[in-house]
Amino acid sequence: MSEQQDCRAWLKAAPYIDVHCHWSDNQALIALISIDLEADSERPSTSFYSAGIHPWNIGSDWAHQLDRLENHPRLLAIGECGLDSVIAVPMDLQISAFERQIVLATQWRKPLIIHCVRAFNQLIAIKQRHADHAKAWIVHGCNSHPELVKQLLAHGFYLSFGKALLNPGSRAVKSLPLIPVDKLFLETDAADTINIDAVYAAAAKIINSDVDSLKRQLASNFQRVFLDD
Ligand SMILES: [Zn+2]
Repeated sequence: MSEQQDCRAWLKAAPYIDVHCHWSDNQALIALISIDLEADSERPSTSFYSAGIHPWNIGSDWAHQLDRLENHPRLLAIGECGLDSVIAVPMDLQISAFERQIVLATQWRKPLIIHCVRAFNQLIAIKQRHADHAKAWIVHGCNSHPELVKQLLAHGFYLSFGKALLNPGSRAVKSLPLIPVDKLFLETDAADTINIDAVYAAAAKIINSDVDSLKRQLASNFQRVFLDD
């Protein structure tokens, strides 16, 4: 797994890490590009990636698509996958597809990148049913209010924050100071108008830290969660 060894060396320089995005051409940072097995075609040719089936994209072929996924050395996570209660896809089907991806993540010892919209009680219940899952559960795009964030932390979730940190009135800004830094990641997601360095700068300011310390901490989180086995 030379790519992962290269990544370990790279992490020593504490680069910016975008833990969840859908596209990146910035070679200067570690970007975990999320590919959807039902919506996207090819895996990225050089960068690290996560792969899964987004609840929005669950089609008739989802189980077959997951069966065909290859455990590639640059595949660092399963997802984004999860639950969304404001879409038309039936919740039973979403739960089946999500649990199948949890099983895969467990077998392959990968963390999960989770999309969750107004389904946090179901998410917590599912995590409790899969207590043997060895790696991290990362709720991405966190913009939840502090009480919910405390609940998620109590259940062992990691949280990844993105563009909501750039909005001073957001719930994310209120919740971020509650997150132990070893449970934190940052991301740009689908936003093509923001850079990950702006997200780091906003996060550092909110928690009264500085960007260099945050980069070192998140590099250490990344190594522990995505690379160590
Ligand atoms: Zn996304």
